[in-house]
Amino acid sequence: MATPLTFQQLLNNMLPPKTVNGILYVPRITYTQASDPHVQDFDASRDGRMHGGADALYAPYDPATGKLGYATSKDPVNQNVLIGAPVDGTLSIITEGKFKIAVITDSNKIQYVVRHMSNLADGLDGQFIQAGTVIGTMSNVGT
Ligand SMILES: [Zn+2]
Repeated sequence: MATPLTFQQLLNNMLPPKTVNGILYVPRITYTQASDPHVQDFDASRDGRMHGGADALYAPYDPATGKLGYATSKDPVNQNVLIGAPVDGTLSIITEGKFKIAVITDSNKIQYVVRHMSNLADGLDGQFIQAGTVIGTMSNVGT
């Protein structure tokens, strides 16, 4: 049985920490209300319906203070971002309506669904892949 990862480890596999212009960026969960930047909305309501997931993007992190900042989806650091698989597992690329999603099934049969991507790695469909293997590009499509 695979060792469970922390949620932050899953995020780090998807969005590996990176340094841009001397600033360290790490993945963080987004919030929907600018008035409350502490919201960690796994199931936040969106337009009257449940979102059913957590959105993540890069945010600036200061190791000296431990302070995690925030960058928007329009920030250059969040443009053309490659998304890695959250865990080792078998990749399935599934068409849902007009969008494609990636589903990675790990050795415990737990499924990790990754949405909001373009340029999905169709060539890896059905293959066992390692955590961090690029499965698509961050985008704002889908729900
Ligand atoms: Zn979402």
